[in-house]
Amino acid sequence: MTDIGMVIIGAGEAGARAAVQLREEGWSGPITLIGEERLSPYERPPLSKGTLLDKDEPAPVWILNEERLAQHDITFISGCGAVDIDRERRTVLLEDGRLIPYFRLLLTTGARPRKYKLEGSEDADVLYLRTYADAMKLRDRLHSGMHVAVIGGGFIGLEVTASAIERGCTVSLIELGPRILSRGVPKEIADVVEARHRKAGVDFKFGVPIEKITKNGERQTIVLADGSTIECNAIIIGIGAIPESSLAEKCGLEIDNGIRVDEMLRTSDPFIYAAGDCCSFPHPFYGGRRIRLEAWRNAQDQGTLAAHNMMGADKVYKAVPWFWSDQYELTLQVTGLTDAGETIVSRDIGEEGRFYFHLAGDGSLVAASAIGPISKIAKDIRFSEMLIHQGARPDPEALANPDVKLRSLAMVVQ
Ligand code: NAP
Repeated sequence: MTDIGMVIIGAGEAGARAAVQLREEGWSGPITLIGEERLSPYERPPLSKGTLLDKDEPAPVWILNEERLAQHDITFISGCGAVDIDRERRTVLLEDGRLIPYFRLLLTTGARPRKYKLEGSEDADVLYLRTYADAMKLRDRLHSGMHVAVIGGGFIGLEVTASAIERGCTVSLIELGPRILSRGVPKEIADVVEARHRKAGVDFKFGVPIEKITKNGERQTIVLADGSTIECNAIIIGIGAIPESSLAEKCGLEIDNGIRVDEMLRTSDPFIYAAGDCCSFPHPFYGGRRIRLEAWRNAQDQGTLAAHNMMGADKVYKAVPWFWSDQYELTLQVTGLTDAGETIVSRDIGEEGRFYFHLAGDGSLVAASAIGPISKIAKDIRFSEMLIHQGARPDPEALANPDVKLRSLAMVVQ
């Protein structure tokens, strides 16, 4: 076996999973995992929830702590970003000048928060949430009795809002679009989420741009285009993420809404793979449509599959998309791609929640979405995922009937 090893740039969910998988698949050469942050790989989902709510001093939820890194003989280079890739020589240059040769390279560089640009308000004091350090900074600013302004009604904005409310703050949420959760979540479900936030006292502003933000001591004032103002103690921004593809671009890899990979997660260079938030890939269940997913499970699954393929497995990535969000006592889960559906069939799951099936024009199930207590939705979302995977065309009447077990529909086409 060669001494030249597997190199992974990006020590988040996808990168960490890939490193472990390579070892578990029997790769006996060096594995080098490169991370910009100083911390060992940690889970990001708790950052907008548990990390903000923990009564005691929270700690990161480790994906790989030092002990596990050592157990798997993974060399972890932290706090030192990669600055260049020489594809001819197959080396990675680190910011401290080190050169790391690679046999196969995996890019799991993730995504970075989209920055809010507002002319004349450059000195506004705004917070973003991506890293553990960001979450700790935010936590320090969420004290009972404070008024918080959240810009962006996506996952970050809404989960942080729920956490801020639970910490005793009041919240104004400013969303430029006509509704919250416009990306991948049907309106019917977004309405339930919005109603729950309103019940908690959240004040929503839709479709009104911000004109300026002014500072007055510890407080700031947001002036909206309709003349209204919001006085607040903290401003949190969650207006989307941008795939981190600058390194790939610099070394001439194809870019297409992130790093372009094929169905086996190979970039335009056969020695380099990419996985997670940073890459777009063709999905076999949706006519080969190219998508990019910013979701925890996708990062896990793609990291794992990339590791297999770096060792020559040539497996196609065909996991059905899935994500969840927890806000207050509610869980929202979506499997598949809701925008691939033409009709929606609803299933009555009682007062506590909503369940929807999304069918394509040919009757095939392409997505399912639900909100409610986890005990009411999680199992049926899993069966829906199986049905999507099977390419099933379930009878809409059976889908709508809560007495028909989804498990039985999944069995029929097996
Ligand atoms: P996001 O989910 O894409 O939501 C961004 C929201 O901000 C959208 O509703 C967008 O509206 C709105 N927006 C855009 N520009 C705006 C502006 N100038 N003023 C007001 N609103 C504006 O992104 P995010 O919430 O920032 O999350 C960042 C990343 O973290 C994403 O990758 C997300 O998936 C991930 N994350 C996921 C979870 C989860 O899966 N549970 C939890 C937290 C974070 P339009 O769509 O109308 O432009």
